[in-house]
Amino acid sequence: MTISYPIVETFCSIQGEGFWSGTSAFFIRLAGCDVHCSWCDQKETWPLDKHPLFEINDLLNQSLAANAAIVVITGGEPLLHNLKPLTESFKKERIKLHLETSGTHPFSGDFDWVTFSPKTFKIPDNSIYSKADELKVVIANEQDLQWAEAISAKLRNDTLKYLQPEWNSTETIPIILNYVQDNPQWRLSLQMHKFLNIR
Ligand code: SF4
Repeated sequence: MTISYPIVETFCSIQGEGFWSGTSAFFIRLAGCDVHCSWCDQKETWPLDKHPLFEINDLLNQSLAANAAIVVITGGEPLLHNLKPLTESFKKERIKLHLETSGTHPFSGDFDWVTFSPKTFKIPDNSIYSKADELKVVIANEQDLQWAEAISAKLRNDTLKYLQPEWNSTETIPIILNYVQDNPQWRLSLQMHKFLNIR
């Protein structure tokens, strides 16, 4: 059976956030998200049925042609879909596959790196906690730090922890800098691609 996924866009860029910042990347943005963050800058990804379907082989061929260091599966919320068939095909080609997820649906697939970015708008599914290689929490105000700590307590000991300022908020950078100073297990993550004005 041929398996297809609804795709918003695919593009080459660099990974702009977290541990892999600066790494060449081919992004596959899957459609569908039911988290509905008020500050979401990808609202066009929310509908599941308004984007073209791409077969796994199409996505694989695009990824191989891009020849980037990593392929990043993002969204939307990619875990709305069963990612096992997709990751099985990519693994056969030895492509380094990363996932960016809010963790709000049961985990599927086999990835080389999982970025878990929980949102206060919808609680994560328990299956994400053992899978996350890095935690990235968007901070819009001081209260979000408590949310970040509560999530962090459920993760593996070796999961990297990042706090990232909400892009439109001017007040959060000093809040994060102070917090990282006092709590060195946390790191600051900036959206490098936005400073560079690239995708
Ligand atoms: S989880 Fe991501 S795509 Fe979904 S609403 Fe939140 S920011 Fe937007």
